[in-house]
Formats: sequence, C-alpha cells, structure tokens
Amino acid sequence: MSHLRSRKIVDLNIIKLDSLLKVIETSIIPLTQKSVKNGNKIFGASILYKHDCSELLSAVNNEIESPLWHGEMSALKRFYELTNRPKPKDLIFLSTHEPCSMCLSAITWAGFDNIFYFFSYEESKDDFAIPHDLLIMKEVFSLKTGEYRRKNHYWESYSVAELIPLQPAKKRSLYYERFNDIKKAYVNLSNVYQKNKNENNIPLA
Ligand SMILES: [Zn+2]
Repeated sequence: MSHLRSRKIVDLNIIKLDSLLKVIETSIIPLTQKSVKNGNKIFGASILYKHDCSELLSAVNNEIESPLWHGEMSALKRFYELTNRPKPKDLIFLSTHEPCSMCLSAITWAGFDNIFYFFSYEESKDDFAIPHDLLIMKEVFSLKTGEYRRKNHYWESYSVAELIPLQPAKKRSLYYERFNDIKKAYVNLSNVYQKNKNENNIPLA
C-alpha cells in the first residue's frame, strides 16, 4: 500500500466542539431553512480550518438541481472552485448527517483525512425518514448495518457526539442542550421537507 500517503491520526483534542456546533447553528441551519423551502433535503456540510476550527465555507443539499448535489458534494464543488484553496489535510470536513456512500467516496477523492458528522445513518432513517444511506450500503455493498470502515488509510470518521466526553465536565450539560436544540431545528426542517417532497421530482426522495 505504498502508494497511499502515510497514515495520519486526527487529534480529537484540537477539534473545538463549540466551533463545530456554531457553524451548524449559524451557517448550515439558516442555509437549510431556505433550501428546504425550495424542495431540497435537510442535509448540509461545512469545511473548517484545523488550526482554529474557523469556517471556510458551508453548503447545503441542492437535489432539485441534480440528485448528485448532496450537501457534502455542494461543499466539495464550492471548495474546488476556490482560487486560493487551502490543502485538504489542513481542513476539517463536517457533515450534518453521516455521509452516504457517494459522499464518502467524494470526500476521499477530494483529499480530506477526516469526517465529522452530527446525525448517524440510523437517525437519518428513523428520525428523518431518509433510509437511502443504509439501503444503498446494503443493496450495493452488502453492508447490512452501514458498517463501512470508520478508520481507514484515507480518513477517520467521527460522530460529533464523541467530542462531548472530551470537554470540561462543567460544560457538558450545555453542550447536551445545544445538541437537543440542533436536533429540534432539524425535526422542524424535516417536517417541511417531508410535507413537500412529492412535488420535488428527486429519484430517492
Ligand atoms: Zn451523500
């Protein structure tokens, strides 16, 4: 496997949970509120700098234009349109929902060494009525419970919730409250999407 670059471990202690949540709260959710009104799904993504966890860009699902424009794909497209682009290895890839098989591969091809996601595949299926991630894993890749390799030669993927135990004990309850508020916001966004989805002509709605 010498053609693969040397394995890089993501240091979870340098990832600022506050910054990851803030980008979801103040960038991705407002963008999503607009895009679901147009018939798009609720998914979004951000790219942040590793060194200070500040936001480089955020983007959201745009499946009404093309079913390939998942939130992650929209973010990668915008990233590669930047003229002065930072190196992917200096960046954090944040997805609101655990990336589907297409997006996992796209993030790989785009050169990122980490993926953080807020909601799991199970939550996408059970809480947001989007079963396609798990169904594609099962039907196309024979992965019955979506168990792709979360640590591999290219990247490591983590649930954002895994960062909570690394925070100072007295701050954890505040983080749990923010998690709950974000979940409530997505339940509302999902209700808008589900109500209008029959009109949007997306193949896997
Ligand atoms: Zn995807």
